[in-house]
Amino acid sequence: MEQFHGIPVSSGVAIGPAVVLDDEGYSIPRCHVAQAASAAEYDRLLAAVEAVARLLETNQEETARRINDSTAAIFAAQLQMLRDPRLTAELKRRVLEMCQAADYAVSQVMHSYATALRKLGNPLLAERAEDVLDIERHLLHQLGAVNRRGLDMLADSSIVFSRSLTPSETAGLDRSKVLGFATETGGPGGHTAIVAKGLELPAVVGIGPFIDNVTVGMQVIVDGERGIIILDPDAETLDRYQEGMVRLRALLDRLSELAQLPAETSDGVTIQLSANIEFPHEVAACLERGADGVGLYRTEFLYLTREEEPTEEDHYEAYSQVVKAMPGRPVVIRTLDLGADKVGRRAPDQAEHNPFLGLRSIRLSLKNQALFRPQLRAVLRAAVHGDVWLMFPLITTIGELRQARMLVNVVAEDLQEEGIPCRTDIPIGMMVEVPAAVLMLDRFIREVDFLSIGTNDLAQYTLAVDRSNENVADLYQSSDPAVLRLIARSVEVAQAHKVPISVCGEMSSNPARALLLLGLGVRSLSVPPQALTKVKKAIRSVSMEQCQEIAERVMTFDAAGEVDMYLLDRLGDLAPELLPS
Ligand code: PEP
Ligand code: MG
Repeated sequence: MEQFHGIPVSSGVAIGPAVVLDDEGYSIPRCHVAQAASAAEYDRLLAAVEAVARLLETNQEETARRINDSTAAIFAAQLQMLRDPRLTAELKRRVLEMCQAADYAVSQVMHSYATALRKLGNPLLAERAEDVLDIERHLLHQLGAVNRRGLDMLADSSIVFSRSLTPSETAGLDRSKVLGFATETGGPGGHTAIVAKGLELPAVVGIGPFIDNVTVGMQVIVDGERGIIILDPDAETLDRYQEGMVRLRALLDRLSELAQLPAETSDGVTIQLSANIEFPHEVAACLERGADGVGLYRTEFLYLTREEEPTEEDHYEAYSQVVKAMPGRPVVIRTLDLGADKVGRRAPDQAEHNPFLGLRSIRLSLKNQALFRPQLRAVLRAAVHGDVWLMFPLITTIGELRQARMLVNVVAEDLQEEGIPCRTDIPIGMMVEVPAAVLMLDRFIREVDFLSIGTNDLAQYTLAVDRSNENVADLYQSSDPAVLRLIARSVEVAQAHKVPISVCGEMSSNPARALLLLGLGVRSLSVPPQALTKVKKAIRSVSMEQCQEIAERVMTFDAAGEVDMYLLDRLGDLAPELLPS
């Protein structure tokens, strides 16, 4: 049994067999073949070995010709490794005697060689481990191992382990087959983590190097609550986790009884509790868990899960589906927030040095109207079916807001001229997720109908910390006093101008932090569907006076650690069953 710690990003625990994706994106879903098929499997392996040998010979010749002999020697050494009699004997034994699938045998043997080399403590030999893994990649490629695009071809009940997973790869995971996942890279606020919550997949990210210790098919536990993964757990650990899963299920069942009750404090203050969604199908979970509306619809995921660009009709279909499913409840459609860690399967033409500070979100939409206009048209068209609100992300300057609003007017006029049914009077708002927007909020607020605080980006840009980087994850805290001051100021400005303001960043889905937000004056929260009943329970367990006391005390603290410790303490008094177990 081995245990690794990372960043917990999604509640729940998954127990099952591991599927490993290597850097090149190969997954090896099948471990064994029938005994009768093992001879053919061995032939397949030999053919792959020969093909890789030819490839290495060609690489060697080409490199000698184009560079020099000493560089070409790298491939000569790899060739020698590939022909190593011990290696070939071990592969033969696994396929013929143990009936392992050829790709599985290759992955097992090469990873154990690489690990052994790394453990010798000699930097030169450790480098050879990379050569071993390079040969593995060539062999897997030859064997036609399923690559990442085949994530949707995973075997049932898999737990996916990978060095990294992009938000779009995560969004493409088949929830009926994948039980959970864990990655070496990634931070708490990255969109991979957010998608994991949307899919309600137990997940741990930012673990650091661990993949080489995992073998395909190995029993593993992913504890998304505490941020732990356990490889090959012993019987006692397994029992403990299985009991914990039963307890969690029971808690969720109890909380589900609150679904249709109002999110109201004990002294009668009603909070609007809405849901964040990435995909139209999530509205079912929103309704089941009693969301008052959709407070954030991240429309960019329409791009992230497909090869080709969505048409106006695709946008319209998706939005209409959501709006029609939510009669009488507001649906806040956020315009495309593409860029930074949310890039589609078609990578951008030019890589940026600082993508989080680059051409992302509203900046990208304004620069690329062919992208933006169809979306705006679709939103205004879908608005005839219900209560649609339109929101712009990452607004930093007043010029951006004005330009975006002007474009809405232009497409509204076009639609009217074309005689296409649409609504032109919908509320238009902006996200508050850049410190500049907070500082200038008294100006912005005259030109919007509503505001929504995006604490994920607000924390990132206030604290100068990349939300998806595991190396600085400890600094990434929406409870940092600097972030709290910006939130408090935004709420004050909104209240003074009587403009509705909500919080749709992940902060609001943490029950303890949600109470703080209420104390700061927030009366509208939007959280992933998974968190609706937990947050409602927290709201129904307190009075507004208690929340205000909490906020007053918190604003005297100097550091996020103090804030969170105090908040957990108060949550323990007010709603102990919501404390992380
Ligand atoms: C945010 O930044 O808080 C937010 C809600 O938007 P996203 O997480 O999609 O960037
Ligand atoms: Mg954001």
